[in-house]
Amino acid sequence: MTSAADAPAGSDRPLSVRALAELPVTVLRGVGPKKADGLGQLGITTVLDLLTHYPRRYVDRTREALLGELQPGEEATVVVRVEQVTTRRTKRGQAMTTVRCVDGAGSTLGLTFFGQPWRERQLHPGALVVVYGKLELFRGARQMTSPLVDLIGDRTGRIVPIYPQSEKAGLSTWEIGDLVEEALRRAEARRGIADPLPERWRDALDVVDRPFALRTIHAPESMKAMMAARKRLVLDELLRVQLALVQRKRQLEHAARGVSHQVSGPLIDRFLEGLPFPLTGAQRRVIDEIGADLARPLPMHRLLQGDVGAGKTVVAVATLLIAVQGGYQGALMAPTEVLAEQHGAGVRRLLDGLTVPDPTSLLGDRPVRVELLTNRTGAADRRRILAGLASGDVDLAVGTHALIQDAVQFGRLGAVVIDEQHRFGVEQRAALRDRGGEGATPDVLVMTATPIPRTAAMTVYGDLDVSVLDELPPGRTPIDTIWAQDAVDEAEAWAAVRAQVAEGRQAYVVTPLVEDSEKLEATSAEATFARLGEEELAGLRLGLLHGRVPAADKDAVMERFRRGEVDVLVATTVIEVGVDVPNATVMVILDADRFGIAQLHQLRGRVGRGAHRSTCYLVAYFDPEDATAQVAAERLTAMVRTTDGFELAEVDLELRGEGTIMGERQKGRNDLKLASLRRDKELVAVAREVALQLVDERGTLTAFPELDEEVRTMLGESDTDFLLKG
Ligand code: ADP
Ligand code: MG
Repeated sequence: MTSAADAPAGSDRPLSVRALAELPVTVLRGVGPKKADGLGQLGITTVLDLLTHYPRRYVDRTREALLGELQPGEEATVVVRVEQVTTRRTKRGQAMTTVRCVDGAGSTLGLTFFGQPWRERQLHPGALVVVYGKLELFRGARQMTSPLVDLIGDRTGRIVPIYPQSEKAGLSTWEIGDLVEEALRRAEARRGIADPLPERWRDALDVVDRPFALRTIHAPESMKAMMAARKRLVLDELLRVQLALVQRKRQLEHAARGVSHQVSGPLIDRFLEGLPFPLTGAQRRVIDEIGADLARPLPMHRLLQGDVGAGKTVVAVATLLIAVQGGYQGALMAPTEVLAEQHGAGVRRLLDGLTVPDPTSLLGDRPVRVELLTNRTGAADRRRILAGLASGDVDLAVGTHALIQDAVQFGRLGAVVIDEQHRFGVEQRAALRDRGGEGATPDVLVMTATPIPRTAAMTVYGDLDVSVLDELPPGRTPIDTIWAQDAVDEAEAWAAVRAQVAEGRQAYVVTPLVEDSEKLEATSAEATFARLGEEELAGLRLGLLHGRVPAADKDAVMERFRRGEVDVLVATTVIEVGVDVPNATVMVILDADRFGIAQLHQLRGRVGRGAHRSTCYLVAYFDPEDATAQVAAERLTAMVRTTDGFELAEVDLELRGEGTIMGERQKGRNDLKLASLRRDKELVAVAREVALQLVDERGTLTAFPELDEEVRTMLGESDTDFLLKG
């Protein structure tokens, strides 16, 4: 064994990540119970936590300016000492804190903060602070409003690290800096810090070694050295995630026996020839990619990313038919009943007239048998369908979660498609995959209409192969998006709805989002419905759809809307996914500032599905005084600017950060402290490549025990197990 943790106690082997994780911070000088408690509040309990508590930013004191040299309007970093702090209330009742400061040359500067009374405690007289902001002149005096401010204590280095700290924890950035320094000094004086990346790889990738990187990220000699250190540590983070994902991918591929489907055949040919439209280039390419997977004896695990309206359904059906034509069964699972039913109807329509060979039939063949299974399926039908699934008589099953209940068994399940995969967990995917009879693992295609940037996909879905439908079918009329910012704009939106209805078109009104309460949301939807019916949209035929509408009524409303008997569908986000009514050309989204970009994009995708030009109104009154309104404004502006889901996904990543994209799927895998999927795009791809090479070199990562151990330590033993078990 060569791993550090297995080395006997007192060994002089360099400290691995695991060894550092086993040292409590209390081994450091000066860390008693009180300080340990403060560190604990920052999530730091071990020396490893401390060393990976990276500076939030750096103050380059070689570039600090003197106030006297700055022009009004200029943005700059200045180092000043606090002289006096006062807080008073403004007329609107907000706390206004004013700080008088003076720089090294004796020039004075006033700082003003609104609604941050805690500044009075933070910026006590005598404190040395770094201030970054825009210089203004106010009645002849220099000042900055809401600048970035950091206390730096008496640090004298040229480049001063500023650590994320917490008021509550009672630890200053320089105390943290001192502790880091001590930890590094002691580690180096004894065993040193291990570098699990072999030197030849470091050379090939042009990265510095880990001890240097750790030392430098905390106490850089220059910003250039800091960037080199950062690159190495970012690569380490990304590499660990990729190693876990690539291992899982390889394991999935090799552990199971799949079905080697016959890709070309009469059924699929007739299906494709019978389509009322030619496939887009992207659809053709993706069907080929899937076909190649299906032909292989290894089970497919592929993600299909395609924007709303890109035509994923045809790809899904083609996938399933390839299984069906070889005598296997296919299953299509959707996250909601509305969607499952729509898919059921859509699939039947697409398959109309198609047959499969049947030796027991007089004609030698029979129609493809499609069944819909949801929680609404009646008991008798359910019994019949379950029997058909078990015997293999049902060719294609479309349904909701009902498809993965225990009672459901498939006789010869060969391919599975899961729509809107972000709504399903890994477990549910696995559950459907395991329904197959005969011991062979079915091929799995998961589809999502939530575009995420490529590098994020590589990280979030790194255990899947990814196909992208990046081309919309032709003939779509673009959607105009208008942000209605005040009552006048809003009135225009309602006028547009009435005008479109007068032309025979239909509309959606999306009612305000109420997080975490379906009941409140329903109440709000009902209120909006009632108001619109009496006021803005009086005289039009309105329908109401929300999570609490009984199933039968939901169906009835949807059906009437589809048939054009309802002009305006007033609905909550239940219409978010998949609903397809090409005659609907206007959408009004109320309180649009409450929705995220992905959700707005999904919603908007309900219009613009037919030949008529469509418009989407985002109603969100704008209050420039409100700070949260600023971020919402950026989302809405992006929505107005583009309908490209991938571009919007980039904006979303920019605005929300990676944490949210990683979301559920990445729970526990929050090792990305420095790495940014946005800023470090190239390194994501590099890490992916390195991980593939390392894992494939020996077929498993165990050939690199230090890396293997590190992945398990950093990503959490249980999490890695979960990842690797699938
Ligand atoms: P999504 O990717 O959002 O699931 P759908 O599969 O529902 O998209 O397709 C959206 C609409 O586009 C459907 O009405 C479908 O019939 C139509 N469509 C799909 N592919 C094409 C194509 N190649 N040419 C024209 N229309 C297409
Ligand atoms: Mg769809």
